Amino acid sequence: MAQQRIITDPTIANGSPVIKRAQVPVHQILSYVATGMSFQEIIETVPELGLGDVKAALDYAATQMRQGMPAPTGNQGSNRDLAFEQPSNMLDLNKILVVDDSQLNLDFMEAIFAGGEFILVTALDGREGLAKARAEAPFLILTDIMMPGMSGLKLCQEIKADPLTKDASVIFITAHGQNTTLVAKGLNMGADEFISRPFEPEELLARVQAVARLKRAELDAQRHAQIVARHNQSLELLNELAIAITSSLDLQKVFASAMQQLSRLLKAEAVSILLLDGEEKKLTVNIASHLGEYISVPVEVKPTPEMADVIQQERIPAIISSILHNPQINLTVKPPADQDAVVCVPMVSKEQTIGTIALINKQGSSFTAGDWALLNSAVNIITVAIENARLFTEVQEFNRHLEQKVAERTGELITEKKKVEAILVSMADGVLVLDDENCISTVNTAAQKMLGADSSKLLGMPITSKRLATPLWDTIRKLASSIEVIASASVDVPDATRPGGLLSIQARSAKVHTETGQTIGTVIVLSDVTSLMEVERMKARFITGVTHELKTPLAVIKLHSNNLANYHTRLPELKRNQLIQAIQEQVQLLGKLVEDILELSRLDSGLVEIERQPISLRQVVAQVVAEMQPLAAEKEITLRWQKSSPEILIQADKDKINRLITNLIDNAIKYTPAKGSVEVKIASELVDGQKMVLFQVCDTGIGIPLGERAQIFERFYRIDPSHTIPGTGLGLSIVKEIVTAHGGKVTVNSPPEGGSMFTVSLPEA
Ligand code: ADP
Repeated sequence: MAQQRIITDPTIANGSPVIKRAQVPVHQILSYVATGMSFQEIIETVPELGLGDVKAALDYAATQMRQGMPAPTGNQGSNRDLAFEQPSNMLDLNKILVVDDSQLNLDFMEAIFAGGEFILVTALDGREGLAKARAEAPFLILTDIMMPGMSGLKLCQEIKADPLTKDASVIFITAHGQNTTLVAKGLNMGADEFISRPFEPEELLARVQAVARLKRAELDAQRHAQIVARHNQSLELLNELAIAITSSLDLQKVFASAMQQLSRLLKAEAVSILLLDGEEKKLTVNIASHLGEYISVPVEVKPTPEMADVIQQERIPAIISSILHNPQINLTVKPPADQDAVVCVPMVSKEQTIGTIALINKQGSSFTAGDWALLNSAVNIITVAIENARLFTEVQEFNRHLEQKVAERTGELITEKKKVEAILVSMADGVLVLDDENCISTVNTAAQKMLGADSSKLLGMPITSKRLATPLWDTIRKLASSIEVIASASVDVPDATRPGGLLSIQARSAKVHTETGQTIGTVIVLSDVTSLMEVERMKARFITGVTHELKTPLAVIKLHSNNLANYHTRLPELKRNQLIQAIQEQVQLLGKLVEDILELSRLDSGLVEIERQPISLRQVVAQVVAEMQPLAAEKEITLRWQKSSPEILIQADKDKINRLITNLIDNAIKYTPAKGSVEVKIASELVDGQKMVLFQVCDTGIGIPLGERAQIFERFYRIDPSHTIPGTGLGLSIVKEIVTAHGGKVTVNSPPEGGSMFTVSLPEA
């Protein structure tokens, strides 16, 4: 195989291309192909030729034709277009048949034509003349009219009726004065001329040459007409092929259509298209047969080294027996044992071989050079169609890829947007986004609540709208029109959840800029700072309270100590003792104040650990009541406590509970006038399914107005218009902190009989 492919490109020798290695003219090989000889027969006829040489000659011819050059032929000059298929009934333009029953006349004719350009064939009667006309294919028949047996007229009739001889010209030779009716009859039967005896040899020669010229012209015209018809047919076939295969951009459909069309047009039993996979250098085989079969599942075959070599490097036709005998390819139409009936051409696109097309077995005959030429043109069209389909597939692939990317990105953006929306919705702060024209583009749930309006009404609305007429909108407008990049302002607005209550809103604005510094909008954040403000207020009150409460005892101490210092010698002892006692009381008060402040700040800071331990509430209460009895006795107040109270255990900090009980009993005694009574109780009960411990202090004292029951637990809050009852205003704040730290609650009520009733509920251990 490799040796058969040793090919030297046909070289031009004496104006005619030859296969250099074999020294055989290309046109000779083409003429063998044109007669329908198989490749094998050609090699057998010319032993110097290899199979590759034959194919190289065909390739050369095909290239010439593709470039619009006539294929090389042996007949240069007037016959140069006679490239491939010659007419089968071709006449010999040098041969003349003379039919005459007189040997003398025949001898005379031979003498006239001797040594000239024409070869003379003679016959002594019509029947012999007819046989020789059929066998020798003369272009001209000169015949006598009157002959025994078959007359000249009958001979003319037979010749014109036979397709083999009908194109030959007939000239009658008549005797002088012969019946002119006969001559007319002969001419009607298709004879071209007549000549009367006696004639001059020059006259005969001139007439014969004229007929020969006419015949040549006629044959030329016929051949041209045939060539044109063949070209037209080829063009029609190619057009059909082009329409069929370009009607789809699907590669598999292009394959199927191309293979079916080639199989039909070139009468191939099977057609294969092999595409070279650029990456893996693999061939994908697609095969169709004239039976309409199409192996649609492409079979991947690794090309044999020879095949790859042929296809990729030399780009010349190849016979690919290895593919055809591949067991993977199950063809109903098996190729013959010899590979002659396989014609393979490469598909070349942009100087790259992209694959091959092979025709296998021509139905009923062998492939001709005409088939070859047609196949070469068809391959060009198929190559373009395949390339288009491939490009289309690539573009589609690219589109799909792009669409997928866009979908992914859109998905990401939607997720991101949803995330931002979720954050905005769940934000405690109100967020308002304005566009560059100060129209509302975003308003989150918190902002809607603060502004008291629904987003459906607000979105798209300019903030300058007269409908937005509240102090908060005034603040927003002020911030939006500010030239500051970041600005803030505070405003109090009615609290929709607390009738009569106010919300303190702090509004902060920030301009949104592009990378180039252009302002494209404003973001306004509305924060509810009500509780913050409340803390601030409490702090301020605390400091004022502390200062005030410290000042009063200090002023008393200062006054009394000054009096003592200045007048102690003049003051009677009783007075001096009174002053000293007053100073001691104030010092005690100061000490208590400082102690309370410290206790509260410890509780506030969270530094104090609540040391829980199981304690007996009855025991703690009994102990405090016992300690407080002298104080009550001083004011003749009855302090009652049932010693038989139930034993109740709580998990609590003993010192803190002690402090809590002390503060409540101390207040009850303090705010109950002399001779009143104070009662202390403990109990256990179920509240919402949970066991709770109740500790209650009930007095018959001055009581607490309804409107001030919530405030008495605030720091430094006191109700003592007469300023006669000493106190810090911190006792109940401490009670509340201790109760809260133990997970309990403290409430105050007024019993119907007057006085106050404080109830502490704590979870039971
Ligand atoms: P103070 O040192 O003034 O007693 P508290 O925080 O203990 O401070 O009490 C706050 C205020 O609550 C008191 O000033 C008083 O007006 C009121 N109060 C507390 N306990 C009683 C009570 N048992 N009866 C009437 N008023 C009370």
